[in-house]
Amino acid sequence: MVIDSHIHFGKVMNLELPEQDLIRYIYEYKVDYAIISNVSGIEFDDKMNEIDRARQYPQIQLNKRTADLVKEYPERLKGLCWIKPHGEGCTEEFERFVEEYKLYFCGIKVHPYHSAIKITDPRIIPYILLCQKFNWPCVIHSGSSIYAPLKAICQIAESYPDVKFIMVHMESTQDDTKIIESIKKLPNLYCDTTWMNPKSIVKTIGSCGSHKVLFGTHTVSNGVHTADQYLDMIEYLKTNLRGKELEDVFYKNAANLFRLEVKHKAKNIFY
Ligand SMILES: [Zn+2]
Repeated sequence: MVIDSHIHFGKVMNLELPEQDLIRYIYEYKVDYAIISNVSGIEFDDKMNEIDRARQYPQIQLNKRTADLVKEYPERLKGLCWIKPHGEGCTEEFERFVEEYKLYFCGIKVHPYHSAIKITDPRIIPYILLCQKFNWPCVIHSGSSIYAPLKAICQIAESYPDVKFIMVHMESTQDDTKIIESIKKLPNLYCDTTWMNPKSIVKTIGSCGSHKVLFGTHTVSNGVHTADQYLDMIEYLKTNLRGKELEDVFYKNAANLFRLEVKHKAKNIFY
């Protein structure tokens, strides 16, 4: 069985990740379950220029789209609320939306880089309190160290020990020693496989335990076949990890952390 814990769709500016590609991926690759979030919520472009607010998608509207997609495939998908802490914030209206649509979501996605906000910024805190309230993990994009350096992620994880934090991309550009030490030290800090060096994944599991790493591919960032770039990594994991460790990484950890009930069980092409 496979749960892909890191999938995107959405459209904003010249970035387009079609929903139909996401669905094609699920069926073509026989992924049993996927955690999806809508990139239309980015607030700053790749060059760190704020996107014209008139062209941005409102926080509630873009997450409603996620909920609608989950409603269409209730046995295969669950959403992460993509937040807009810079331009909108955790308003009462947003909290009401989350309460009303909570069945379709299983966590929150913070993209400090595309919101140009540090993960420790006070504007992020109300969203973390929502995670606390619903027992949801908080997924943090950590690929850029400007807004979400390891130190800040650890600080927030220490401040909210009852919230689970998943550091996706695991600051892939940095030396992994400090990252692995932090994941080992903090019981509520996890990571995923996206953009990761396969050796670092095996090292992390050896040092921190197999319960700390979630499988994800970042599909459809490079189209329907984004996951193909992970086939070598998957082979490396299959060669270097034991059966129980593989089960944890490929689906058990995601099922536990996001509290998913997965009914679909396919003979997956990955694992
Ligand atoms: Zn992501």
